[in-house]
Amino acid sequence: MDDDKERFLKEFGEHYGYPNSPKNIDQIRSSEFKRLEELVYLDHAGATLYSESQMEMILKDFTTNVYGNPHSQSDTSSSTSDLVRSARQQVLEYCNASPKDYKCIFTSGATAALKLVGEAFPWSKESCFMYTMENHNSVLGIREYALAKGAAALAVDVEEIENQNGHPRNDLSSLKLSQRSAQRRSRTEILEDIPTANSLGSAYNLFAFPSECNFSGMKFSLDLVKLMKENSERALEGSPYSSGQWMVLIDAAKGCATQPPDLARFPADFVAISFYKIFGYPTGLGALVVRTDAAKLLKKTYFSGGTVAASIADIDFVSRREGIEESFENGTISFLSLASLHHGFRIINNLTLNAIDRHTSCLMSYIRKKLSALRHGNGAVVCTLYGDLTKMSSREWGPTISFNFRRPDGSWHGYREVEKLASLSGIQLRTGCFCNPGACAKYLGLSHKDLLSNFEAGHVCWDDNDILNGKPVGAVRISFGYMSSFEDAKKFISFVVNSFVPLPNLAGKGYLSSGKSTPFSSKDVHLKAITVYPIKSCAGFSVDSWPLSSTGLQHDREWLLRSAGGEILTQKKVPEMCLINTFVDLAQGILYVESPRCNIKLQINLDPALSGGVKGEMDLQSQSVMAKK
Ligand SMILES: *Cc1c(COP(=O)(O)O)cnc(C)c1O
Repeated sequence: MDDDKERFLKEFGEHYGYPNSPKNIDQIRSSEFKRLEELVYLDHAGATLYSESQMEMILKDFTTNVYGNPHSQSDTSSSTSDLVRSARQQVLEYCNASPKDYKCIFTSGATAALKLVGEAFPWSKESCFMYTMENHNSVLGIREYALAKGAAALAVDVEEIENQNGHPRNDLSSLKLSQRSAQRRSRTEILEDIPTANSLGSAYNLFAFPSECNFSGMKFSLDLVKLMKENSERALEGSPYSSGQWMVLIDAAKGCATQPPDLARFPADFVAISFYKIFGYPTGLGALVVRTDAAKLLKKTYFSGGTVAASIADIDFVSRREGIEESFENGTISFLSLASLHHGFRIINNLTLNAIDRHTSCLMSYIRKKLSALRHGNGAVVCTLYGDLTKMSSREWGPTISFNFRRPDGSWHGYREVEKLASLSGIQLRTGCFCNPGACAKYLGLSHKDLLSNFEAGHVCWDDNDILNGKPVGAVRISFGYMSSFEDAKKFISFVVNSFVPLPNLAGKGYLSSGKSTPFSSKDVHLKAITVYPIKSCAGFSVDSWPLSSTGLQHDREWLLRSAGGEILTQKKVPEMCLINTFVDLAQGILYVESPRCNIKLQINLDPALSGGVKGEMDLQSQSVMAKK
């Protein structure tokens, strides 16, 4: 065993690796995740992985049993119905929810569960939709339903006030909500039109927060449920909405992998869950765990097969089914996916959630410590971690962390660069904003003006613009799952040290030249060739040496092709693009583009001041035009 692991085990030994289970982590990895041998998978917040025996059990189950449509009246469908019933029961147990008070509605995912709440919530002009800044887009989208019905939307920050010892006082008075912004759709509505406390008392309001933030990994205190349901007057002191009736929605899509909300202690009204985030399979299935009394307030518009008791085709008559599950599950539920749920739950329950939580937590503690201790030769910090680090000791964190790397001079490494290098090292991680724009803006310090100007500069989710105006517009995220190991964490740290903490005499920008050894980790690594691809998806050209820019090779993938309709063209869509040849003449400052299918040779001036842009047009399939990215 190496020194690092020995030290790690000394610190975390009793919590790491499932020592009390029939199979410890090493045995789990060698028997259940053989496919991970070459890969360090660190995107469990994106999706965790299914085990081999889980899939074998599902296959065996499906090939020995006959499952019919649960709506039919036959033997096979009654066994399906039993199975659906027990799957609901299992989900409720997972959240410690009494079947008396809660129901489990199956949906196509956490997003669909959240949408269902937004769609059917009893919004009125007097209502308020309040949500924490750290929220997934799938929660933010509820805003559209609220605003469309004339309700207000309010973004808030949650603060936990600490006592003298630096630990949060474990009571509701330690929680404080501070308002960031309020929105209302109708422009004509002026302040005086905002309803007064009197008219608000009877309206229904909704407060939404994630149990674990999928950006920073921060766990939100579930005391927020009690605070809003029992003590909204204090929480929203001075706000006209303080006296209304508050319902609480927890987005547990991320958190439920290691710590589902305990609904017996924290009686939230709605909880959204996703199963591939817990045990990897099946995808396309989630659940809304809903309090029975809250479900009765939901108003559904659509009816469908499965949700209707009777309807008449040619007059406006419909009678809906009574049951809560039945009235919200449109069509036939994904009963084969439901049949595979208990095979996933079995794994989690055998290991126990407690042990999974401890196991993943110690991996995250190790990573946090290692990353925050990294320094460049000149003493500069290598890794900026996102999260309220001053309060680290008192806050609880899930097995997720986001960060960006800096060079010795303080400038940032773009997250796309990190992602590409990681992928070359067999490490899978996630970069960007992770569908959580509020957390992203908050932790990266991006103002509304930054966000809008980034958008106007052409930055959209998923693209390659990772640094704008010297600031990162996203982050790198790694996250652990129940089958993650110390070796995964260690390989990641080695990768970071080798790639982003250059040896002092080799640091700095310069020319990259082939043939010589390069400032990478190992002295055995030699650069064999340099190919520059000025236009995405078109052919590149090879050179012996080439200048670097902040994003890599200069002019590399600086342009792209758009069709006349504005669609971005790639080789996947237009394979002929590989026939388009490119060459950059640095001395003249010109990009040459030509294709055997086209007589005209394009010349593009690289100096933006001189470029009237493109000389000549190229006719590729449907009259494409060139656009600078
Ligand atoms: C993954 C995730 C979602 C979306 O879940 P789907 O099941 O993919 O719809 C929503 N919120 C959070 C916090 C998530 O991590």
